[in-house]
Amino acid sequence: MEYEVVIGLETHVQLKTKTKMFCGCGTTFGAQPNSHVCPVCLGYPGALPSMNKEAIRYTVMAGLMLGCRIAEYAKFDRKNYFYPDSAKNYQITQLDYPLCIGGGVEITGEEGEKKTIRIHHIHLEEDVGKLVHRAGASGVDYNRAGTPLMEIVSEPDMRSPDEAIAYLNALREMMIYAGVSECNLEEGNMRSDVNVSIRPKGQKEYGTKIEIKNMNTFSGIYAALQYEIERQKAALNAGQALRQETRRWDTELFETQVMRSKENADDYRYFPEPDLMPISLTQEQIATWAKDLPEAPAKRRERMIAEYGIPEYDAGVLSADRALADFFEAVAKHCGNGKLASNWVMAEVLALTAKTGVELSASALTAEMLGELLKLLESKTINGPTAKALLPELFEKGGNPADIVKERGLGQVSDTSAIEAFVDAVIEANPKVVAEIKAGKMAAMGFLVGQVMKQSKGKASPQIVQELLKKKF
Ligand code: ADP
Ligand code: MG
Ligand code: ZN
Repeated sequence: MEYEVVIGLETHVQLKTKTKMFCGCGTTFGAQPNSHVCPVCLGYPGALPSMNKEAIRYTVMAGLMLGCRIAEYAKFDRKNYFYPDSAKNYQITQLDYPLCIGGGVEITGEEGEKKTIRIHHIHLEEDVGKLVHRAGASGVDYNRAGTPLMEIVSEPDMRSPDEAIAYLNALREMMIYAGVSECNLEEGNMRSDVNVSIRPKGQKEYGTKIEIKNMNTFSGIYAALQYEIERQKAALNAGQALRQETRRWDTELFETQVMRSKENADDYRYFPEPDLMPISLTQEQIATWAKDLPEAPAKRRERMIAEYGIPEYDAGVLSADRALADFFEAVAKHCGNGKLASNWVMAEVLALTAKTGVELSASALTAEMLGELLKLLESKTINGPTAKALLPELFEKGGNPADIVKERGLGQVSDTSAIEAFVDAVIEANPKVVAEIKAGKMAAMGFLVGQVMKQSKGKASPQIVQELLKKKF
């Protein structure tokens, strides 16, 4: 039997607010356990929550980035359950009036086609604390309890593990672009509940879904999906019915295991949160926030390809990071040659950041400096090797490339008679190499070019050197 895979993801994205969702406690990662807690996030009797407006704004920004409709009326609800990492015994979340509705994420599908994974809604809720297990004892760290989380719920539109990963990558990129989350996977900023089912090819109804809880690495999600799809296929092929259940991924055994059979919303005894007012956003408020929304990464890629004439690959590398894309665009505008700018940013600048471990934003190099350097190169005022030699200095100390070139006399020598003098001297000094070339060993030519460049202190135009040398043979 041939099966079709159906995947839907519920992704928790931690907002980068400075304080928690309903109290003033800080959200810094890695602080001393239970040092960011107060009566509100510990659920003391009588403590009242107050809403973090920045979290509302971030969620709206995320919704706008994903093309959601922003609700004019939203409210919070209590989801009641006992779990030791949630001191209140309930979680404040949004059940039936979430902040953002609809929207979608564009990915490249299995067959290379463009495909939209629809978003069902985004709701805002608070995170729980962390259980810490040590030899013989367990503790709870409530620092994370009450941190604002968006839950982005997709429709069951993905058809393979690869599509699920493509969706998560695109979603992560969009959230980072929107500036609402660091989406740092190691710090647990982005965690997904993975829903997966299979159905006979051609069948309209969905199969029984399995939910794998709380996955925080993409590689884990991929492996868990592959395992679960095979497990479900084997069960159906053996004539066994699947039960709707919640499973967990065992990272050591590399298999999913049953946690519990599926609970219903009724089990949580949801009711409207009595201590918080509903949220009503005006269109004016939403429009004001929308002004700060940056261009979506996929749109930006398309525009950069069209505007600067760069290949899709370059656009992909450059747009992966908003600051890098901004830098590239400023360089391209300054020097007026998009392809040259992208070559230099991708090859030279990224190599420097990798080599030095210094991020571009922390370096002394500005887009104006690199743009100026490339202008000098374009106008043949300096040659390629000189430009390359100057870049690390600009990266470390900064400076005005035109001034440096003038001060140190680094201008390219394009004066043919001056270069010819070097060429003649080099030919005279290397009779053995000259003989080799005359005997047909053209590879030896490179040596002579190098010698002439050296004589000119690296300033000769490499093109003219080559032309002149060729004429001599
Ligand atoms: P629940 O009420 O159990 O949470 P929902 O209908 O709200 O279920 O969907 C939760 C998530 O599961 C969504 O991301 C949705 O896309 C996905 N989903 C729903 N049905 C299926 C299915 N049959 N197979 C795979 N994913 C599914
Ligand atoms: Mg669910
Ligand atoms: Zn608190």
